[in-house]
Amino acid sequence: MTQTVAVLAVQGAFVEHEKRLRKLGANVIELRQAADLEQPFDRLVLPGGESTTQGKLLDELDMLDRLRRRIENGMPVLGTCAGLILLAQRLAAHDDKGTPRLRTLDVEVERNAYGRQLGSFHARADVAGIGTVPMTFIRAPRIVSVGPDTTALATVDGAIVAARQENQLGVTFHPELDDDIRIHELFLSL
Ligand code: GLN
Repeated sequence: MTQTVAVLAVQGAFVEHEKRLRKLGANVIELRQAADLEQPFDRLVLPGGESTTQGKLLDELDMLDRLRRRIENGMPVLGTCAGLILLAQRLAAHDDKGTPRLRTLDVEVERNAYGRQLGSFHARADVAGIGTVPMTFIRAPRIVSVGPDTTALATVDGAIVAARQENQLGVTFHPELDDDIRIHELFLSL
């Protein structure tokens, strides 16, 4: 059966996700306002962008609590970069200004973890169960630690760059910007 994937489209890099998901045979809808949540969808993608802006918009648009409830009830979700930050239960102490976030994924994240000099870079690394994947990092966070029910799936230079907890998959990079389709395939198989 065709999967319908909702892509958060209030800010950030959502279009490339939509193209990738359509290529993989999914039906795609955009979430721009609370009314969009009335349409049926099976999965959710939270794109990269600016997590503080995205979190505030989700809250103001009255979408935050409703999406959190669906994730807690088992809806598969993929968070990339800023989207991972929205999912993270904890931010590094110096980072946590109490901005609204979903806080469903049991990880601690540090935003902009690579500093200004290394704003963006590419790497290739092994992702558990998939193999070597190209990774594009753009002002990326890093996953500092994962909780007991969360699995670190990949590391680059000692930093965790992908983690999974049941229905939730979070990556610090932008899989939609490389040709490799396997992160999206993994998400669609959750
Ligand atoms: N630095 C951004 C943030 O903190 C994330 C960057 C990205 O999504 N590419 O929200």
